[in-house]
Amino acid sequence: MEIKRVGVVGCGLMGSGITEVCARSGYDVLTTDIKQEFLDKGIGNIWTSLERGVKKGRLTEQEKDAIAGRIRGTLNMEDFSDRDLVIEAAIENMAEKKKIFAALDKICPPNAILASNTSCLSVLDMAIVTKRPDKVLGLHFFNPVPVMQLVEIVKTLVTSEEVISIGEAFCKSLGKQPVHCKDTPGFLANRLGMAYLVYVFRCYEQGIASKEDIDKAMRLGFNHPMGPLELSDFIGLDTIYYIMVSMYEELHDPLFAPPVILKKMVTAGQLGRKTGKGFYEYK
Ligand code: NAD
Repeated sequence: MEIKRVGVVGCGLMGSGITEVCARSGYDVLTTDIKQEFLDKGIGNIWTSLERGVKKGRLTEQEKDAIAGRIRGTLNMEDFSDRDLVIEAAIENMAEKKKIFAALDKICPPNAILASNTSCLSVLDMAIVTKRPDKVLGLHFFNPVPVMQLVEIVKTLVTSEEVISIGEAFCKSLGKQPVHCKDTPGFLANRLGMAYLVYVFRCYEQGIASKEDIDKAMRLGFNHPMGPLELSDFIGLDTIYYIMVSMYEELHDPLFAPPVILKKMVTAGQLGRKTGKGFYEYK
């Protein structure tokens, strides 16, 4: 099966990035959101990113126009009736995602593949509300989508091998580097990354070293491009807290129990770069 027409549900941070990379790779992309203003904002962000590409000499004006010409927005999901692949990137809420998958199943052609960009919810739970659970998989992109190379390809208990192969070929066609993993909480990267960050927060909480020295140790000792506390501020402490809570609730593994310091900082609105203060202050 050849993928030519892609649909993206949700045109927020991730959905607009996924729409952009698909259009850059030659796919015809239709994206939807719940309100015109959200759609306008997401598509506006794509135009800004393409303009930046032209200013930096990475795209010509003609290439920019061709990419933009492959992107359309709609408020009507019925328009997804000709899509070969739909990637859901709406809010991280299972009830909402199930509604979207049930609707897509009715609207899309019977052979279309449905994917979720969920960070940590069960892809199988979305698959079973459709009549094509073997054609549902996770395609977990990372933020910012145009920059980050990784995509996790998530196979549920019932995803077919053929659909996984198509998903892999699709990710490679976007210039991404896929890894395969099971449909378990946190998938692969967040499972490993959260285990690391939770332990960093505990060391900081126990006063084992200053925040600066924790970051310096991992930058210089392990050659990480960012220290773990700088990285946490960049991701957003609310996002990290949410992922840890959902992994802890699913796995019942004390390893993922969110440290008290993290919960307090989230309660205080100290979420990192986006609020101007997290472990560090940002002007
Ligand atoms: P976001 O809030 O920026 O965007 C979500 C968009 O979905 C919003 O514009 C919202 O209006 C829209 N939406 C909500 N319900 C909808 C519906 N029924 N139909 C169509 N659109 C709907 O969120 P985001 O950060 O882009 O996250 C989207 C998904 O990607 C989530 O599942 C999240 O867990 C996952 N994800 C996020 C990141 C990240 O770093 N932000 C990374 C990987 C995966």
